[in-house]
Amino acid sequence: MLSGVGDFLPHGARVIVITDANVHRRHMAFVDAYEHIVIGMGESQKTLATVERIYRDLIAMEAGRDCFILGFGGGVVTDIAGFAASTYMRGVRFGFVASTLLGQVDASVGGKNGVNMDGYKNMVGTFAQPEFVLCDTDQLRTLPERDFRAGLAEVVKAGVIGDAELFSILSSHTYEDIKGDAGLLADVISRAVRVKADIVERDEREAGERRKLNLGHTFAHAIERTTDRYTHGEAVSIGMVMAARIAVRAGMLGSEDERKIVVLLEKFGLPTHTDIDPNRLLKAIRMDKKGDGDSIRFVLPTGIGSCEVRRMGFGEVEELATGR
Ligand code: NAD
Repeated sequence: MLSGVGDFLPHGARVIVITDANVHRRHMAFVDAYEHIVIGMGESQKTLATVERIYRDLIAMEAGRDCFILGFGGGVVTDIAGFAASTYMRGVRFGFVASTLLGQVDASVGGKNGVNMDGYKNMVGTFAQPEFVLCDTDQLRTLPERDFRAGLAEVVKAGVIGDAELFSILSSHTYEDIKGDAGLLADVISRAVRVKADIVERDEREAGERRKLNLGHTFAHAIERTTDRYTHGEAVSIGMVMAARIAVRAGMLGSEDERKIVVLLEKFGLPTHTDIDPNRLLKAIRMDKKGDGDSIRFVLPTGIGSCEVRRMGFGEVEELATGR
């Protein structure tokens, strides 16, 4: 697939690849054929310091407005590369080759780019669409188990938000089926992308419906803020279950549907609960409320394939989350 990337790059443009050390090591011949910037691995790299280093490298390379940035990697790389590209010299063209499952089904799609700040997730960023996103299931063969499972959490999320059939496909196959059958995997990925792309097409700037894509993320971000024990996908898995539980307690979701969500996530080897004190998470959510006053917008599933964004007071969330 990498041999075909050239077909998508703008003819004659100066291409600069941004990737992480892991992806570089695995695809050295491809990356080294272009000018490139290699960043470190993992969530801890998603900072303004990394972006600043990229700007400096671009300046040292004398990269002008006519350069084309190719972000090649997982969600961390595409979030950073998209942000650097959309701000360097007021914005240069860019595209992505997404190399993780989570990146293919979620992070590389939709035009949100950015970095974390003082422990707050994605506090600084842009809305800017890549010119293309290339996804190849072959890339996923080398992905560590844990990262593959984390990507499945976002696929399950897509099913819960807006594709009951995707949820049913996932429920009727084993983890090994999905990982080992390239056709099935491609189908599952494109369905998840469709759910996200359809919503983004209707609400690119998150004025309303796009918030649904944050299902599980209120608690996930609080978990990620509290500990680095979980990957983003694992935190989303736990957050989704917490949202489902709140929805059941609020009378918005049947307990049978909640059980189906838990069973599916557990089948994929994902965590569905955490020993972190819920009050600690609620405190982190309060701190993360980003100017929303005394309430937050919470995404709650109302069935398999449907969800609702509801504004809830902190008191109500606390009551429903702790079952008090
Ligand atoms: P990641 O980018 O850290 O990748 C996970 C690990 O896999 C890294 O160590 C990476 O080096 C390695 N890797 C990448 N491709 C590989 C390959 N083909 N083979 C072997 N190893 C490979 O993490 P992620 O899970 O892809 O992305 C998580 C990030 O995405 C989070 O920061 C999250 O906030 C962000 N995200 C963004 C959006 C968005 O809309 N912008 C949506 C969802 C998630």
